[in-house]
Amino acid sequence: MTRKKIVAGNWKMNLTFEQASELVAVMEDRLSQSPAECEVIIAPPAPFLGLLAKRLESIGIAAQNCHQSEKGAFTGEWSASMLRSLDIPFCIIGHSERRSIFNEDDEVIAAKVKACDDHGLNTILCCGETLEQRKSGHQKDTVITQLRVALQGISSDSMDRIIIAYEPVWAIGTGETATSEQAQEMHEDIRAFLAELYGPRVAQFTRILYGGSVKPQNAAELFGMPDVDGGLVGGASLDADSFMGIISAA
Ligand code: PEP
Repeated sequence: MTRKKIVAGNWKMNLTFEQASELVAVMEDRLSQSPAECEVIIAPPAPFLGLLAKRLESIGIAAQNCHQSEKGAFTGEWSASMLRSLDIPFCIIGHSERRSIFNEDDEVIAAKVKACDDHGLNTILCCGETLEQRKSGHQKDTVITQLRVALQGISSDSMDRIIIAYEPVWAIGTGETATSEQAQEMHEDIRAFLAELYGPRVAQFTRILYGGSVKPQNAAELFGMPDVDGGLVGGASLDADSFMGIISAA
């Protein structure tokens, strides 16, 4: 089975609306002249989602997060159903910055994945180990435990809306990238885990993205690995030239 690659840009808390609009216009123009072979997604800051979604043609749009509850007294938050009502099809859940800065544990992440699933959103579910966990040889059990808990409410029928992003914490925003062998080894382990949990069909169709200092210079090698189905890109997605360079490597 061939899996269509995905290149998703996580803008985090960057850009003014003017800068965001300009970046989107340049990207759409370039993609209309030379269409991407992969699926392209951007994840802008939440206040821009509704307005930017209307301007996108060949680019998909993701939220960077949502709350696990349906509605209520959660000042500063938004729900999966609100994203759905804006026709936002994707949501990133469990990014390492959400885990470390906002104290989201695996159970909260599982509830968020379930909320997205309940509203038919496609979830980009992030996982990854810290440098200490890798140094002590615990990278695989860390990542598999994160996924086991996060996917506890997800049936095999819902797995066609789950995309996994393996993002070693030590590679995010550091300029240090996992080698293509390190990425492939973990992606293979994740796929084997999906086969154990859901069977071979789900394991074969689930896209597993790599994230962590992906740049135009290293993207082709990473994306060339058999179990790497594209990338989740932070810093390099804020610049049209570098993001396009990564897209064309996929
Ligand atoms: C990310 O934030 O998901 C990420 C991978 O960031 P960067 O590409 O900047 O390492």
